[in-house]
Amino acid sequence: MDARLEAVRDTVLARNPGESEFHQAVSEVFESLGPVHDRHPEFLEAAILERLCEPERQIIFRVPWTDDSGRVQINRGFRVEFNSALGPYKGGLRFHPSVYLGIVKFLGFEQIFKNALTGMPIGGGKGGSDFDPRGRSDAEVMRFCQSFMTELYRHIGEYTDVPAGDIGVGGREIGYLFGQYKRITNRYESGVLTGKGISWGGSLVRPEATGFGTVIFTEEMLKTRGSSFDGQRVVVSGSGNVAINAIAKAQALGASVVACSDSSGYVVDEAGIDVGLLRQVKEVERGRLKDYALRRSGVSYVETGSVWDVDATVALPCATQNELDGGAAARLVRNGLLAVGEGANMPSTREAVAVFQEAGVLFGPGKAANAGGVATSALEMQQNASRDSWSFDHTEQRLTDIMVGIHHRCASTADEYGDPGNYVLGANIGGFVKVADAMLAQGLI
Ligand code: NDP
Repeated sequence: MDARLEAVRDTVLARNPGESEFHQAVSEVFESLGPVHDRHPEFLEAAILERLCEPERQIIFRVPWTDDSGRVQINRGFRVEFNSALGPYKGGLRFHPSVYLGIVKFLGFEQIFKNALTGMPIGGGKGGSDFDPRGRSDAEVMRFCQSFMTELYRHIGEYTDVPAGDIGVGGREIGYLFGQYKRITNRYESGVLTGKGISWGGSLVRPEATGFGTVIFTEEMLKTRGSSFDGQRVVVSGSGNVAINAIAKAQALGASVVACSDSSGYVVDEAGIDVGLLRQVKEVERGRLKDYALRRSGVSYVETGSVWDVDATVALPCATQNELDGGAAARLVRNGLLAVGEGANMPSTREAVAVFQEAGVLFGPGKAANAGGVATSALEMQQNASRDSWSFDHTEQRLTDIMVGIHHRCASTADEYGDPGNYVLGANIGGFVKVADAMLAQGLI
């Protein structure tokens, strides 16, 4: 790493002790930015990096609620409003027991660059709670969401900060959160949250957008090698919103998706995952992947090991951070891997990324490859602002154009900085320069 940047990075790490995921995300970006600072010394003089790593505002709050047996439960809520140089803070809410400030900050930091790459006028933020919705009744989830919003509402707004979903936050949770916001403020402010239901301000394609977008980005990468999804053997991790829609899109493009996972195990279905059955089990019944295996013949369910033990030509990690390590990456490469498209945020460890890059595998980092979700959230905000709703085909075409544009921006930036095919460098520099220019123009704030 460039010595000037290393000094800044060390200060950032020391000022944010114990936040390993945030350290990882910051270090990965800094490793790409040396050449930018050679060309733009003004960014160093204006301390753009120091400012970028310090969130504009961090909110941590108590979320009290009662469970179905009448017991009081206390969770912790977070919203990190990281950077508003390009627009209102924008980024999802994650409800998962692993959530703490370091996770929210890594996600918020990545979101700044991702949102810049979309070309849409949105800043970066992220939030969530250590609440675990799994195994909770609808009534418990509603009471939790209402309590969470009773504090969060004062910090968000259509022109301020616009949350959406992430792990553990889907249409049900966004509905309860929106209802409570409307009740407290007495405003039908559709643009305050995205991922809403289609009949009350949501956008068609938003539920599919992250998974679809990841596959569209990966298809663009494959095209640079004269290839496509048609005929590929694909393994996907996760079986949530992003994973299911990535599977559907990859299969629509002619791939065979043979495995997917949840946090308890993975299924191998050599006939190709049945997306209809998967949606029924996971989205309608809120069941486990094991139930999918029980209901379909010829499917094996594996509780030990990793979904990355299954060989593939294309890997789409769509579960969570640091789920694909150096050993798994080396195994995939040995077995003939061509491309990786990250549907999740930072699912590959730094060692895994190095293995992929050294082997010449096409590697699309999450901040570029999974940007279709937030981009379609911005399209939802456009529809809300104009009190309009667009057709599925029109919205999907907009998503496709945006993903092709992000691929082009990453590829051409990598070319410009002398490292063709390095999408990590292209995404980091492409996103950074746009935000840094805006921060310079807006003065020292
Ligand atoms: P969901 O909650 O819908 O699904 C998450 C999936 O990942 C589940 O199958 C879950 O399994 C699995 N998972 C979660 N944590 C772990 C873990 N520690 N180990 C193994 N598996 C795990 O979330 P999404 O699909 O929305 O999000 C998935 C990823 O995509 C996240 O990294 C998220 O930040 C990213 N992303 C999501 C966007 C969106 O629009 N939703 C936008 C951009 C990025 P289980 O059910 O067993 O917990």
